[in-house]
Amino acid sequence: MKNQSAAINVISAEKPCSIPCNLCGSVIVEELSLVDRDNRYLRTVICRECGLAWTDPRPEKEDMRRYYSKDYRLKYKGTFEPRMKHIDRAGHVVLSRYERVRDYLKSGMKTLDVGAGGGEFVYRLKTLGHDASGIEPNEGYAGYAIKEYGVNVQVGFIQDAELDDASFDFITIFHVLEHAEDPLSVLQKLRSWIKPGGTIVVEVPNIEAVCQAPVHRFHLAHIYSFNESTLVHMGRRAGLDAVEVKFSPDRGNITVFFRRADSGMDKPFEGGISGNCEHVLEVVNKHTSFVHFTSSYPYVRFFNKLRRIIDEGLSVGKFTSGKQILDDIFKSA
Ligand SMILES: [Zn+2]
Repeated sequence: MKNQSAAINVISAEKPCSIPCNLCGSVIVEELSLVDRDNRYLRTVICRECGLAWTDPRPEKEDMRRYYSKDYRLKYKGTFEPRMKHIDRAGHVVLSRYERVRDYLKSGMKTLDVGAGGGEFVYRLKTLGHDASGIEPNEGYAGYAIKEYGVNVQVGFIQDAELDDASFDFITIFHVLEHAEDPLSVLQKLRSWIKPGGTIVVEVPNIEAVCQAPVHRFHLAHIYSFNESTLVHMGRRAGLDAVEVKFSPDRGNITVFFRRADSGMDKPFEGGISGNCEHVLEVVNKHTSFVHFTSSYPYVRFFNKLRRIIDEGLSVGKFTSGKQILDDIFKSA
């Protein structure tokens, strides 16, 4: 086991940062951690005013963009295109995501999935009769989605995408916002694309999660770390009202359902979020390796992962294409 105790290296002195807070604009921060999940140097700071956390300093924007368009899936999954086991896993993730959002969908909606990956969610919504499309920066995965499922996936970054104002009924952005260099501007862009009365679903990892080992809380690919308060307030700044908040059963993920607010897009943010920084610091500080490994979380996760690997091996062997795998998963839902 790596040096667990080094992972949460909380320093309480106020330290300067090179990037102002994306939510409130403050530059008064504390260092929250100095290492990433691989025990390499990664400085994560937290805003004293509102509790948003981010990587500071961070890689150049161009390096990050190249990483996501070419290298990201290769590094984490060892492949440019999704393999059968990845599609099987993604298909089951899609089912659980669909269950979370289905109450907000009505037949024939025009939908957009931002960070569409291999296109599984877009395909699911298309098969249910929606006018579904997606955006995905990774060329291999986006290309596979178009070729395998015949879905409409635009290859590129949301930051560069230009779509018609007020043209979508329903937008999803699962596990993308934490990777964006300017998440507030991403939410503002989504707000411009959603019709009045439409829904935007934003899901991110929860910085307060204690289901994973403390060493896994921060890593280079996640530039921003949110809790419920910072995500809801960032939506409000972008002109979006939170209408519902859901947590995954292990509280590792937060899903916020936003509606377009009647007021403007760049609402001023004054007064911070009282007590939120102190609250996050307390949660992170209390979640030590000792606490974690004497809880049930690591053992439940281990057995769930083992069961998933066995299930994937059993089901994937029967099929020769991604479409066959998804059709089989979706037909039983
Ligand atoms: Zn702030």
